[in-house]
Amino acid sequence: MENCIFCKIVAGEIPSPRLYEDDKMIVIRDIEPKAKLHYLCIPKTHFALLSEMNDVRAEIVKHCFQVIPTLEKQLGLEEGYRVIINQGENGGQTVHHLHIHLLGGEKLADF
Ligand code: AMP
Ligand code: ZN
Repeated sequence: MENCIFCKIVAGEIPSPRLYEDDKMIVIRDIEPKAKLHYLCIPKTHFALLSEMNDVRAEIVKHCFQVIPTLEKQLGLEEGYRVIINQGENGGQTVHHLHIHLLGGEKLADF
């Protein structure tokens, strides 16, 4: 997808160290961390919203949620973390390529 920063990161056009990578997803550090540890799980295929779900995309999102728990120790999240998927304007989504925030490394504020 043209002009999508996460597609560019996935393609290697914007450098961003990958903490994990497989055929369906990457995990990188968020450039503006909102917690002591803040990672982004980014599917390699472009779509913006959960409302654009189809069977292929659902498989990819399922894969992300199967892999994330296997990375907890490696990412320093074994004491707990928060998973966030911002959706659209009111949800505060700024990058319109679906991604899963992983926040942890400290006790997070209630919300
Ligand atoms: P969202 O607001 O849910 O769309 O989240 C987008 C996130 O991407 C924000 O937390 C940004 O800090 C993060 N971000 C934007 N550009 C980069 C980048 N080049 N590398 C890593 N994270 C980024
Ligand atoms: Zn994209």
